[in-house]
Formats: sequence, structure tokens, C-alpha cells
Amino acid sequence: MKTPRRKSPARASTQKCPVCGQTVNPNPRYPRYLCRACAKQATDEAGRKLEFGNTDIGGGFEARYADAGKIRRSHVCFVKGIRCWADEARFGGIVLEAVEDRFMGKFNSLPLARLDWRKMTNHRMKRPSMTLTTEGGFRDNRPTPGLVRRVVNKLDTGQGNSFCCLESADHNYVQTMHGLNGWHLEWREPGRPDIRQYRHYRAASLVGSNRRRLLRKSDKFVSCGLECDLLNAKEVEQCFLTFLRSEERPKDFKWRQLKI
Ligand SMILES: [Zn+2]
Repeated sequence: MKTPRRKSPARASTQKCPVCGQTVNPNPRYPRYLCRACAKQATDEAGRKLEFGNTDIGGGFEARYADAGKIRRSHVCFVKGIRCWADEARFGGIVLEAVEDRFMGKFNSLPLARLDWRKMTNHRMKRPSMTLTTEGGFRDNRPTPGLVRRVVNKLDTGQGNSFCCLESADHNYVQTMHGLNGWHLEWREPGRPDIRQYRHYRAASLVGSNRRRLLRKSDKFVSCGLECDLLNAKEVEQCFLTFLRSEERPKDFKWRQLKI
């Protein structure tokens, strides 16, 4: 049974969950926090279930996909179509707050201006720590989108700097190889961590030629081809930038699993 809280005059006397409207304990620090039942329903943009936790005993914030356990590098989530922001709570645990609010103007909810979520993104989102490496020996541990774009576009076709790899902290990566007749693009994600298993995929363009063609390089090296897997520089660049931003596998390609 719930014990009624004593009302303090400094606090808002009522506060409601911005998603379902249920009364919650007033909290001036988190005026738009979600009730427990709503917070459990958080998903990503595509409706994939998310779970949140602290990274260690001192706090920190971590979002993971509930199905695969894979880290999602974002504080943004959705509950019943309402954009929310998940973060570590001041005194431990996790708090979800609505950024936009179906019940705007009711339930003492704050106007959107009080919670400028674009500012919050810039200032509070940690840049994912990724490593960009090239065959030629270049390495950068915090590459910017501009640097990734430059490195990809400067790869040669077999003079000692024809491939590069962008790897996340949890060992997902995308890598590409530049040849005389196109680009190969591969993606790796961890499978079973206990046996250090990974799944490898090759990207195939949805519009490319159906013939199997080898990727030819100027050093006479060839890479075996699958149908439609010769990409162009723009496609590779976009994939690297998507991966840098979200660690997501871009949807614009067919991904075929490779046996390695
Ligand atoms: Zn609720």
C-alpha cells in the first residue's frame, strides 16, 4: 500500500506521468519523468525494446537493446510514440523524461522550451569512442565525420593504403577495400561473446550488377566477389558515417553473411 506523501509548499503539489497521465511523486528536478510502467516500455525509433542501466556502481549511463544486449549509443528513446530522454538519475538509477508530451498544457507539464533537447544532445551525448585505422598505418581514436570521409576517399587501389576499418569499443566494425573497379564493404558484429565469435557480412548494393565480379587491385591482389557487391565511394562513405554516428548497420544494403 502506498503511503501518502506530505506536501511541501515549495514543490508542485501534483505531478503526472507525461505519457499515461498517472499521478507520480512530485520531483522538481525531473518534472517530466515517466512512471515505472511507462519507463519499462522504452524502444528505439524502430520499436526495438531498450533497457537502461548504470555503467558501474558510481553511476554512468548505458542503453542496450533488450534482444541482443548490444549497446546503443544514444539517450533518446520512445514510449508510446513520445520521444523521451533516458539518463542516469542524480542519486543513482535511471530516469526517463518525456521530451515531447502528448498531454501538453495539462498535468502541469512544462512547455517544450524548458527542455531544449537539441542542446542536451550536443552537450550531454558522449561521442562514441571509435578507432579508425588504415592499411598504411594511420590510426585515430576519436575520428570526426570529416576525418572518416577524408580517410575513406584517400584510399588508393593497392599501393599500400587500400583498406581502412572503423571499430567501436565493443568490437563491431565496418571495413572497406578499394580496388580498381570498385569497393568492398564488410561489417562485423559480435556473436557469442563466450567463445569470441563474430558474424561477418559483405554489403551488396540493391541496384548493382548481378554478375559475380572480382575486386581487382593494382597490386594484382583480387578479392572474391559476390553478386552486387561492388560498391561506389559514396555508398562506402555513407555506411562509415552511419556507423560512426549510431553503430548501426545501414539498411541501404543487403548484408550477406560470410563464412570466415
Ligand atoms: Zn506512465
